[in-house]
Amino acid sequence: RERLFGGLKRTSDRLGDNLTGLFTKAALDDQTLDEIEEALIVSDLGPAMAVRIRERLAEGRFNKELTEEYLREIIAEEIEKVLAPVARELEIEAFPRPQVILVIGVNGSGKTTTIAKLANLFLEQDYGVMLAAGDTFRAAAIGQLKIWAERLGVPIVSGKEGGDAAGVVFEAVKQATETGIDVLIVDTAGRLQNKRELMDELDKIRRVLGRLNPAAPHDVVLVLDATTGQNALSQIEVFQDVAKVTGLVMTKLDGTARGGILVAAAEKYRLPIHAIGVGEKIEDLRPFDPGDMAKAIAG
Ligand code: GDP
Repeated sequence: RERLFGGLKRTSDRLGDNLTGLFTKAALDDQTLDEIEEALIVSDLGPAMAVRIRERLAEGRFNKELTEEYLREIIAEEIEKVLAPVARELEIEAFPRPQVILVIGVNGSGKTTTIAKLANLFLEQDYGVMLAAGDTFRAAAIGQLKIWAERLGVPIVSGKEGGDAAGVVFEAVKQATETGIDVLIVDTAGRLQNKRELMDELDKIRRVLGRLNPAAPHDVVLVLDATTGQNALSQIEVFQDVAKVTGLVMTKLDGTARGGILVAAAEKYRLPIHAIGVGEKIEDLRPFDPGDMAKAIAG
């Protein structure tokens, strides 16, 4: 919890900075409301949220004094309302096993690290975990995932650089099924430069999976880098075009001032948010608590 509040301090500081100077007036008027709305949008919380908070303030405080404490309270309440319905941990519940989790996202978003963190989380819950290096495009990605697998002591199925990703996934599901693995986490290529190719590749993986187990993939988790701000929002749209995204993990919420983007994403797309990344270490993946998150952002 401390980690979350520490990590989101820059986000709440930025919100605070954007709001300073708005509390000097004796009574709340239209101009101040405009300024507050603007400040909330600039803080990445999204236009819908900004309008709602404005309306609540107008209802409760118009022509009355507006304190910073009251404003932060309203902001936290409104954020929590948006986040609560989307907070959903990844549960391992697929029968027959394994549950197949496809992890997608652009290169550099923290995909590999998130896969390792998720694997660690499932290991802690006593599940048998296997990784599949389905990003055959980048040798570095295969190597990185292998290092994580070794460190975590979990099996990994990988192919050659430039090899067929669907083939790797096929082999992984086969082995996972034979060895009684509970959860198979599949890395995928993150080349958005060629959307068509990526779509074809993900489709092929999906077809191969479906042949082995009609319910697979059970989850398609999109990894987003919070530091990219509004860009993270457009990535949701692009990836929803190429794959059926079932949930999000937002990374790098530590040390960014752009944590508000999580709220904008929740509000606009209403996709489940499974967890958040608050650091580079294996234990730095946190289940997503809407109340804490709202308070950490509102400050
Ligand atoms: P990929 O290319 O998407 O697989 O990205 P990586 O998993 O290799 O991560 C890219 C960089 O971001 C690495 O230096 C990671 O350590 C770092 N990273 C990943 N998640 C987080 C996070 O939650 N917080 C911070 N601060 N760094 C992260």
